[in-house]
Amino acid sequence: MTNSNCKANQSIRCTVQQCEHHCNEKDYCSLDCITVGTHEANPTMVQCTDCESFKKRS
Ligand code: SF4
Repeated sequence: MTNSNCKANQSIRCTVQQCEHHCNEKDYCSLDCITVGTHEANPTMVQCTDCESFKKRS
């Protein structure tokens, strides 16, 4: 599904196309601001971090 009205926030690049907030053709997030967190007690690498603003595309 494409969303041509998507307002890409040029300050937040993202490649997670399955997210409701992703701007499809453009690899940007459409939110003004996101929250990044971790699911680890002691994060040590990039895989330990998560976008907590992720919402599954409906
Ligand atoms: S909310 Fe997070 S995962 Fe979703 S498009 Fe924005 S940066 Fe990507």
